[in-house]
Amino acid sequence: MSKTVVVIGAGIGGLSASIRLARAGYRVICFEQHPTPGGKMREFRAGGFRWDAGPSVITMLPVIEDLFATAGERLEDWLTLAPVDPLTRYFFEDGKRLDVHLDRAKTAAQIAAIEPRDAAGYSAYLDHAAFLHQVTSPLFVYGDRPSPFDLPKVGVGNALRLEPFSKLHGSIKGYVRSPHIRQLLGRFATYIGSSPYHAPATLGVVSHVELNEGVWYPRDGVYSIARALHDVACKVGVDVRLGTPVQRIEVKNGRATGVTLASGEVIPADAVLANVDAALVYNRLLPQGEAPPRRARKLGLQRLSCSGFILLLGVRGVHEDLAHHNIFFCRDYRQEFVDIFDRKMPPAEPTLYASITCKSTPQDAPAGHENWYILVNAPAVGPEYDWNKRADEYRDVTLDQLARFGYELRDKIVMEQRITPNDIEAKTASWRGALYGELFDSPWVAFRRPRSRAGDVKGLYLCGGTAHPGGGVPMVMLSGKLAAKAIIEDYSAAG
Ligand SMILES: Cc1cc2nc3c(=O)[nH]c(=O)nc-3n(C[C@H](O)[C@H](O)[C@H](O)COP(=O)(O)OP(=O)(O)OC[C@H]3O[C@@H](n4cnc5c(N)ncnc54)[C@H](O)[C@@H]3O)c2cc1C
Repeated sequence: MSKTVVVIGAGIGGLSASIRLARAGYRVICFEQHPTPGGKMREFRAGGFRWDAGPSVITMLPVIEDLFATAGERLEDWLTLAPVDPLTRYFFEDGKRLDVHLDRAKTAAQIAAIEPRDAAGYSAYLDHAAFLHQVTSPLFVYGDRPSPFDLPKVGVGNALRLEPFSKLHGSIKGYVRSPHIRQLLGRFATYIGSSPYHAPATLGVVSHVELNEGVWYPRDGVYSIARALHDVACKVGVDVRLGTPVQRIEVKNGRATGVTLASGEVIPADAVLANVDAALVYNRLLPQGEAPPRRARKLGLQRLSCSGFILLLGVRGVHEDLAHHNIFFCRDYRQEFVDIFDRKMPPAEPTLYASITCKSTPQDAPAGHENWYILVNAPAVGPEYDWNKRADEYRDVTLDQLARFGYELRDKIVMEQRITPNDIEAKTASWRGALYGELFDSPWVAFRRPRSRAGDVKGLYLCGGTAHPGGGVPMVMLSGKLAAKAIIEDYSAAG
């Protein structure tokens, strides 16, 4: 008889693992507390507008293709993914503006207009990022157990080029002179909720996947990925139960034996895979006395990656000068991260990311209107800033900052929805609203991030943005792949 795996959470990691396990012949039951699948990948619709409310930048297309191929499905039957060009339009406070394209020559020409010497430096940095990807990804992205003992495998020469003791900003400074281009290349640290001044130099690898490989957009919105994965999961036989919270992971003699639902029903299982923030798994889902207290405490107290403050706006009028992805950089980038990580306050003068998907999919907004998604990096939930009282105030900070760039939206807003770090914590089950678990501020974070096998509780597995290899849509798909692989290895070995 086939083994039963209970998956807690129908986020992208949980759905990806479920599909792989079902295809490998396991009986899979996936419990999701919300009535819709996708976790942090969410969408809102109102007044003829549609917004993606979570991830908006999709990279690493081969990872998505691999998942559909494993499911025995043709990706193009489920999703129409098109490249986005320009990748991003950047705006600086001194009026400078820059479109970044996959075509380096096109980008370099614009960089030369800002600082002639940086055109070559930008290209050299992207070559370096490609090198980082080639050397580190087999271990840290696709490998299942990165260990310091594997480091000799990268070779001494390569190890020095990885600049293991430098921060990202320091590394970038060695390639480009202009503060504008430094800010642009440093911003990729925020893709994992860190900052260029905290993240290790090796995280230049994040810029590789966007600037060297490209960005993709599904015609029906990013959320259509979650919908497709849910439907594929059902098609391959996963029993997806939406609106069904899991209360507790059952453990007997140090082994996970199933789960208890909020309804009180007990579901026995041979293995339990939690697609839930690891800090929540150890501090809430494992019964007291069964969660190793040191690990629970460590995960609960870790220094956290950033959260976000989001405005979803339906805006009257069409801004022809804006692209699908836009960044409005603040003047003092270092101060922005001092505010977030040291003062634990949202930045007094934030950098804004604005995604306007109707530039690619016109039906996302009524004619003559635009659907703006504005994201500001913010600290994880803490006592320093009470979002319940101060969200209005911060909305004004955000709109004031946009107005400084010439986009005064206040009299054009016809629909509005706000998402604070508290909402992210409550709606997406993330520890203190942090988007990516532990702050990536040293190379050692990659070694101590929770692995697919929980290790301290037999039969318990982890996947998702706080587990190895980390957050982001393609990365959690990989974490689902690694967790499914671990279960298949352990249970086929056990017969
Ligand atoms: C605002 C924002 C912007 C982002 N931007 C990008 C981007 O541009 N590009 C990118 O690649 N990534 C981005 N990300 C990150 C990306 O969305 C996440 O890393 C990824 O979606 C997380 O997937 P996951 O597998 O960890 O599951 P999660 O999304 O964390 O889902 C976990 C699921 O488990 C469920 N769950 C939790 N506890 C229980 C329980 N007890 N019982 C039942 N169900 C439970 C939750 O309801 C949830 O559905 C962004 C995230 C956010 C929030």
